[in-house]
Amino acid sequence: MSAITASARGMTPADLDAADELAFARERFAIPEGVIYLDGNSLGALPRATAARLAAVIASEWGEDLITSWNRHDWIGAPARVGAKIAPLIGAAADEVIVADSVSVNLFKLLAGALQLRPGRRVILSEPSSFPTDLYMAQGLASMGAAELRLASDIPAALAAGRDGRQGKDVAVVLLSHVHYKSAAVHDMAAITAAAHAAGALMLWDLSHSVGALPLDLAGAGADMAVGCGYKYLNGGPGAPAFAYLARRHQAAFASPLSGWMGHAAPFAFTDAYAPAPGITRLLCGTPPILSLAALEIGVDLIAELGVDRLAAKSRALSDLFIAAVADIPGLALASPTGVRGSHLAFRHPNAHAICQALIARGVIGDFRDPDILRFGFAPAYLRFADVAAAAAMLAEIVATGAWDRPEFHARQAVT
Ligand SMILES: *Cc1c(COP(=O)(O)O)cnc(C)c1O
Repeated sequence: MSAITASARGMTPADLDAADELAFARERFAIPEGVIYLDGNSLGALPRATAARLAAVIASEWGEDLITSWNRHDWIGAPARVGAKIAPLIGAAADEVIVADSVSVNLFKLLAGALQLRPGRRVILSEPSSFPTDLYMAQGLASMGAAELRLASDIPAALAAGRDGRQGKDVAVVLLSHVHYKSAAVHDMAAITAAAHAAGALMLWDLSHSVGALPLDLAGAGADMAVGCGYKYLNGGPGAPAFAYLARRHQAAFASPLSGWMGHAAPFAFTDAYAPAPGITRLLCGTPPILSLAALEIGVDLIAELGVDRLAAKSRALSDLFIAAVADIPGLALASPTGVRGSHLAFRHPNAHAICQALIARGVIGDFRDPDILRFGFAPAYLRFADVAAAAAMLAEIVATGAWDRPEFHARQAVT
């Protein structure tokens, strides 16, 4: 990480691109002409191999081999197979990860399972301003009478003090995003996991903004559970299925509240009584989305080939360049850490929404997060240093000229 950052001093963006050992990877993605894509943290770009692979799965596996493909092309094994490929990206063993459902649904399954694994405790401890779905899913469990959601800004302190001085003894599970979706602030995974364990709680990490962007070591941290997103840095496509991690030591006792037939020990025995599959497969619920899994597998293979360590180092260098290039823009304030952080940056600006729209109109795609955050992602697999410098110059120009202040840039769309 430091090697690139240090060498960045005194080098032009073109020099940095020429020296970039990941420069070749851009050709592996379909990036439209004239677009600088700074939103790979929200929807990863399209790998070139995906269209052909999907066409083949559709025409040959679905079209010709029809239902026999569940066996012939191992469709039935796809959730575990792709999960096993994600495992090394997050510091897990192959049999501890499975692809299934959305992050939201996996949160529901794991939180409910965590509560069952900690009988007598009913608190889900999380932090304010977490990604909304994390809090909403916990609130859903609470509304069923299954849990109580408690929010604390200082998680280790909340665990240590506990309510009523009971040393956090009512906390069943701690739920946190490793990288914050707005600020890109990073939690110390090992330290917080240890604090959760010291209080007798389980630890569930949301890796949606981490996987494929930062090196991760769930096993080293002793994490119990995790979820992560398939359509961000893993480039699995819009609505790609998510993944769930459950440490092997918990698998035999884990009970999914969504006890669907694909998580059954013998789905094709068609028995009336539910019996969970051994191992991670019990986290499956219904029939896996094979086309989406095929697209996700391409993205995961590509990120694994490029290597998360190299990707993280380049992303850091890209975002450091951007911070330096926009430092003098009036009214723009960095809202991300200058130290350890994820792969995106947040900036505050009073006119953030209109500026974001004006940038998009010029082909620089970032996003806006209420109320005043401009968010730019530096997905390193397909971004050039020259792109980042050009985007910064465009941002400076739009702010300097007031080009953002047009009616069409103020109109809010459904998705920001
Ligand atoms: C993107 C994201 C999700 C996505 O949840 P889905 O249910 O898959 O839409 C969840 N959590 C975090 C932190 C995210 O960034």
